[in-house]
Amino acid sequence: MSIPFDPAFIQRVEKDPFLGVDLLIALDTIPPVSVRFHPEKVHSKLDILSEVSWCENAFYLKERPSFTLDPLFHAGSYYPQEAGSMVLDTVLRQLDLPTDPSVLDLCAAPGGKSTLIASFLANKGLLVSNEVIQQRARILKENLTKWGYTNTIVTNNDPKDFDRLPDFFDVIVVDAPCSGEGMFRKDPNARTEWSEDNVQLCTGRQKRIVMDVWDALSPGGFLIYSTCTFNSNENEENVSWLIDEVGAELIKIQVPATIIEGRNGIGNYCIPGKTETEGFYIAVLQKPAGDKKRQKYMRKGDFTVQKDLMDLSNFANIDDISIFNWNDKLLGLPKGLEDKMLHVQSQLRLQKMGTTLGEIAKKGIIPNEELALNPFLNCYESKIELEHQQALQYLHGDTFSLAGNQGFQLMTFQNESLGWIKHLGNRFNNLYPKEWRIRMNVQ
Ligand code: SAM
Repeated sequence: MSIPFDPAFIQRVEKDPFLGVDLLIALDTIPPVSVRFHPEKVHSKLDILSEVSWCENAFYLKERPSFTLDPLFHAGSYYPQEAGSMVLDTVLRQLDLPTDPSVLDLCAAPGGKSTLIASFLANKGLLVSNEVIQQRARILKENLTKWGYTNTIVTNNDPKDFDRLPDFFDVIVVDAPCSGEGMFRKDPNARTEWSEDNVQLCTGRQKRIVMDVWDALSPGGFLIYSTCTFNSNENEENVSWLIDEVGAELIKIQVPATIIEGRNGIGNYCIPGKTETEGFYIAVLQKPAGDKKRQKYMRKGDFTVQKDLMDLSNFANIDDISIFNWNDKLLGLPKGLEDKMLHVQSQLRLQKMGTTLGEIAKKGIIPNEELALNPFLNCYESKIELEHQQALQYLHGDTFSLAGNQGFQLMTFQNESLGWIKHLGNRFNNLYPKEWRIRMNVQ
């Protein structure tokens, strides 16, 4: 039996002709399942139903598989994502952006929108992916590592910390914490957490969050505001408030007819029953054009790598990256982006920057999992292709009998990299990160 709606929520829907009571019925039906494939990795043979028309490489599935038991899920070959959130793809493609835009995803964990933005940028420009809650920032780091782009930084900061980067970003995505009405179908617990008070609390917090990062948006830049809720307080009213407060301009986006224009034409909605999605709201604002504050990039510390440490060419394509030594970790940063990335590093609390290629140890370089999962940099040739069951055991952290040469080996499944082992001849050390290991029984 489904969890009942809060009576105040029912009243809100009944009183609001924009939503209509059919929504209450739709929220008790079975949610669709969708995934977005990584454009550069092997595609898993999932049971596909149809395309998601508003997002590249995105598909509905016939049913929900066990993602945990698919090694390609761990390889970052796809990201299970609710189709409504994927509207961000069509929005980004319509914005008039510089060729190498700097994008901030402010409320980013677990990383659905950030992985989408990374694919959209396709290693051009910079993505700073931020999450204020530390535990969630770790999950964000894991998901972005598996997605494997070099031009990304993961930070763990409060929105107000971004005032240290004035006029820095061409796009800021604020996927704001909200009352979650749009999740009432997919996540029934969201129903028990809903209250009138929480709607008001979220409304105020969203205003604060957006105002805190407004100065970090470059003149002429775009703020993309989204929530997964239906009420006008957290959506149209907040957007209108912001327009009045900062003189931003509302930008209209072309979307398929099933994605409904918001109340008073402000933003767009995905609405279960009308759109093949959960609930989602998105609006785009443009900051007035004007003079950009002069950027002076700072570097904290000396990261120069000595020549002899740079013998990484067996592991990584190093032509397009600069290599830095950060606490004995060798980081690859895209050439041309070093100053910008190191400036962000000097101002914010970093979880990850660029791609960690390896660690400097006494006997040489220990390759890092970030390199294994980066399809653009990883060029290691000594690989062991695993069967499905072996791949699960590897991801579980097990070691087992395995033929192969001594030394570092890249474990692959269907030719997609999973991670490293150190082969010792008759056994191997499993180097798959402990915190990522599959916890369920895989035997
Ligand atoms: N964008 C994410 C995605 O697509 O996977 C989902 C983000 S979720 C809707 C909102 C995020 O905002 C959560 O990760 C939450 O921890 C974070 N958050 C909560 N309070 C916040 C605050 N005061 N300032 C900024 N972010 C906050």
